[in-house]
Amino acid sequence: MPLDAGDNRAEFLYSVRHRSTGWTVDEKERLQMSDTTKVGKDTVVSIDYTLTDDDGEVLDTSKGEGPLTYLHGHDQIIPGLEKELDGKAVGDTLKVRIAAEDAYGEHDPERMVEVSRENFDFDVSPGDYVQAQHQDGSVIPFLVVSVEEDKVVLDGNHPLAGKALNFDVEIVEIRPATEEELEHGHAH
Ligand code: ZN
Repeated sequence: MPLDAGDNRAEFLYSVRHRSTGWTVDEKERLQMSDTTKVGKDTVVSIDYTLTDDDGEVLDTSKGEGPLTYLHGHDQIIPGLEKELDGKAVGDTLKVRIAAEDAYGEHDPERMVEVSRENFDFDVSPGDYVQAQHQDGSVIPFLVVSVEEDKVVLDGNHPLAGKALNFDVEIVEIRPATEEELEHGHAH
């Protein structure tokens, strides 16, 4: 029985993986049936997109930058968008509104902090971002919300927290992930 290109690619994916993992014949059959022409777990997907807020303001776009490429099913993009893209094919377009809870989460007032002005030996203005180092060494960006005589109010929420996101997306390319990409958990 002739195999189409999709079947060949699935078979190849299996044989590459099999050498290192020792997967069984059952998994081989499952992989042979997986459709790498559709967006699904362990496919690498390229999308053109424009992201706007509810006021129509463009927050981000791939226009002029080239498509965004990510590994599907590995939390590389916001969960709400990943869910909408599942099962789509190259050339498909979609317009979706993702609620804040399925995007960057609701705005958390606990992540607002007041810091003594003395901690800043440089000028800060509302709208600036400053970085704070956490005890574990990670660096967290904070938005400067207001600057008063003796204190500065900072917001450690993601800049898009609390916002519904409107995505206008076109699927540009879908391919199976390589073994290395699956090990790393991201697209190369
Ligand atoms: Zn990598």
